Amino acid sequence: EPVIQPLIGPSARHRTRKVLVAWGDQKVWIGGDAPVVVQSMTNTDTADAIATAIQVKELALAGSEIVRITVNTPEAAREVIAIREQLDRMGISVPLAGDFHYNGHKLLTQFPDCAQALSKYRINPGNMGGGKKRDDNFAQMIEVACRHQKPVRIGVNWGSLDHELLARMMDENVKLAQPRDGRAVMRDALVVSAISNAERAQELGLPGDAIILSCKVSHVQDLIAVYRDLAARCDYPLHLGLTEAGMGSKGIVASTAALSVLLQEGIGDTIRISLTPEPGGDRTREVIVAQEILQTMGLRAFTPMVVACPGCGRTSSTVFQELADRIQTYLREQMPLWKTQYPGVESMNVAVMGCVVNGPGESRHADIGISLPGTGEVPSAPVFVDGERTVTLKGDHIAEEFQKIVQDYVARRYGA
Ligand code: SF4
Repeated sequence: EPVIQPLIGPSARHRTRKVLVAWGDQKVWIGGDAPVVVQSMTNTDTADAIATAIQVKELALAGSEIVRITVNTPEAAREVIAIREQLDRMGISVPLAGDFHYNGHKLLTQFPDCAQALSKYRINPGNMGGGKKRDDNFAQMIEVACRHQKPVRIGVNWGSLDHELLARMMDENVKLAQPRDGRAVMRDALVVSAISNAERAQELGLPGDAIILSCKVSHVQDLIAVYRDLAARCDYPLHLGLTEAGMGSKGIVASTAALSVLLQEGIGDTIRISLTPEPGGDRTREVIVAQEILQTMGLRAFTPMVVACPGCGRTSSTVFQELADRIQTYLREQMPLWKTQYPGVESMNVAVMGCVVNGPGESRHADIGISLPGTGEVPSAPVFVDGERTVTLKGDHIAEEFQKIVQDYVARRYGA
């Protein structure tokens, strides 16, 4: 009888070059055998150095390993050095990437301090004018990158695709015996734009291991198709992101759907989740979502994860939901301290379950778990540690007592 072995885990990683993005001693590698890097982007006015430095700090502390800032005006370019200095004073060494459109060639040449303070440049070849002007502007930016020894992300975007290239490819397409649909030509144009600009950058002197590519689109199936094609046609590291993913659950679901498929196929060296923040919403959400995608897929570990059941009619109260939320928040808040004190704690699993149906079983599978009493059950909560039932908690202070048990477990298991 032939036995079909189920495939567990992602496919082998697509082979890419390794690019260094650094600031001082802080070195972030993208591509090759490096872990998939989490990035984010500020939404403050870069000309407001204080507000931008504060947001970069928040994103970095949340776990963003590179933070991108827009550099769109002379005022913004002038303040980049102040932002870098503020961060260095606060002990935040996260590398900054500068996002350039339209006038990047001018800003990078007119503000060499800005060019030096940034650790990476994002260049959009679709937003540089046309014809010879476009070529000259691109060459100027690459020349600055070479001079300052900075890596470049050539970031092509569905919404700002090189019009001349697209028009040429559309013309060629209609002359074919069996023309492809226009959307397929657009996808192809994105890939051609990214790769041809990377090759031009190399011709201009930028080393091949200083180039990262992205081709962002806003539809899941297009993104998957584009990146599969890109991965098949080059070995530059790939920055994944579904652009304009949207608000709330739609943005999270669409990004997760697209990126999970690609990461499972071994495609993607760095990710950014582009969420439209809710009014007054927390910008760090995009960092947490990016980390959760990588951690739930088993690609990286950042924070101990809480497994919790959804609850149903068997749960007599919201106690278990409140406890699950409390424990997840507690674990996340402890991580800045714990990751230096307790190496390996980020891989820990905690279960908080609502009743006896799946509670004891799921709690046994976790490193530490608790099964709260459901409707009609004896009002007690057995705790499981490393698969063994230990104490049983009762009364009004189950949450505090369980948190203390988790805290002691972490110190015992992961302490020196
Ligand atoms: Fe419902 Fe119990 Fe299952 Fe939770 S563990 S979903 S409370 S049956």
